[in-house]
Amino acid sequence: MWVIAQKVVGRHIFIGEVGTATARDADFFGHLFAVVQHQNLQTQLAGYPGTKQAGRTGTHDHNIKTLHGLQCRISTMTVPDTEALHNERDKTMNPIVYAIPVFMLTILLEAWVARRRGVAVYDIPDAITSLHHGLLSQVTNAFTKIATLGIYIAVYEAYRFTEWSMSSIPLWILALVLYDLCYYWAHRMGHEVNVMWASHVVHHSSEYYNLSTALRQTSTGALFGWVFYLPLAVLGIPWQMLVIVGLIDLLYQYWVHTELIGRMGVLDRILVTPSNHRVHHGQNDYCIDKNYGGILVLWDRLFGTFADERDDEKICYGIRKPLHSFSPIKGNLHYYADLWQMSRAAKGWRAKLGVWVAPPGGSGNYHRITVRCT
Ligand SMILES: [Zn+2]
Ligand SMILES: [Zn+2]
Repeated sequence: MWVIAQKVVGRHIFIGEVGTATARDADFFGHLFAVVQHQNLQTQLAGYPGTKQAGRTGTHDHNIKTLHGLQCRISTMTVPDTEALHNERDKTMNPIVYAIPVFMLTILLEAWVARRRGVAVYDIPDAITSLHHGLLSQVTNAFTKIATLGIYIAVYEAYRFTEWSMSSIPLWILALVLYDLCYYWAHRMGHEVNVMWASHVVHHSSEYYNLSTALRQTSTGALFGWVFYLPLAVLGIPWQMLVIVGLIDLLYQYWVHTELIGRMGVLDRILVTPSNHRVHHGQNDYCIDKNYGGILVLWDRLFGTFADERDDEKICYGIRKPLHSFSPIKGNLHYYADLWQMSRAAKGWRAKLGVWVAPPGGSGNYHRITVRCT
C-alpha cells in the first residue's frame, strides 16, 4: 500500500511517499513535517543518507531513509513566494471548508425565496440528513483520498506519456473537459452497475430537490470512482491538476440543485443546468438513467442519454424504493445490504457475482416498480 502525505509551508510543497504502511509511517511524516516547520528542508535533508542535492527552484526528488531505516521519497516543489499564491494554495488544499459558509447562506436564501413564492422545496429533517451525509462524506474522503490519490500518482509515475505544464491555461481547460468526460462515465456506471449504484444511490435518496440535496454525497465513492480517472494519469495530468479540476467539477454541480431556477434556453442543451439536472434526479420513466453530465451535458447528447425537461409532467424526485430513514449510515449502506442478500440467495457463483455487476433495473427492482408519486 502506498502512503502519501503533503504539506505546504512557505514557498514549498512537500510530498512524502512510502511504499508500505506501518505504524512507523506516522513517525516518518511527523518527523518530516517537524523538519519542514524549520523551513530549512534542504539543509535538514542533507543529513539523511541517499539524499540528492536539491536546487533552489522547481521540483526535486529526495530518496531518503527515515530514522527507522524505511526507504522513502520526498518531492519538494518550490513555488514563487507571493502571499497571494500562498493563500490560493491553502484554499485549494481545503476548499470545501471555505465553501461551507457559502453553502449555508445560499441554502437559507433558497429556503427564504421558496417561502416567499409559496412553494415547498424544503423539509427540515430531510435537509439535515443531507448535511449529515455531506459531513460524513468529507470525513471518509479525508482518509480515502490518500489511497486513491496514491494509486493515481503511482500510475502517473509509471505510465504517463508526457507531462502537462501547470502554467498553461489552455491545458487547464482541456484537463477540466477531460475530467468532465471521465466524470460522465463514472456517474453513468454509478447508475447502471449495481455495486456502483449502491454507492451513488445516496445522492438520489432525497425526495426533495434543493441546494442541500447537492451536499448529500456518498461516503463510499472511493471504492470504484477513482478507476475512471486513471486515463488522465496516463495522459500526464499531474495530480495537483486533477485535484483542482475535480473540485471545480464538483463545486459547479452545487448550484444546479434547485427548483427555483427555470429553463435557461440554449444553455440547457450545452451545460448541466437546474432544468436538465432535475431530470437526472427524477424517478419518472422519462428521467431514468438520463443526464449524467457534471459540467457539460453535451456528453449526454453525444452518448444518447440526454432528456429535456417536460413542461407537462411534474418530476417526482428520489428513488423508487424509498429509504424511510434519516440515518446516514443506513443511507450509505442499505443497497450494499440488499445486494448482499440477493447475492446470497442466487444459485451458483456466476449468478452470485452477476448480482453485483447487473444493472439496478435487472435485479434491484429500483427502476421497475411503480412510481408512487404523481
Ligand atoms: Zn446520479
Ligand atoms: Zn445531483
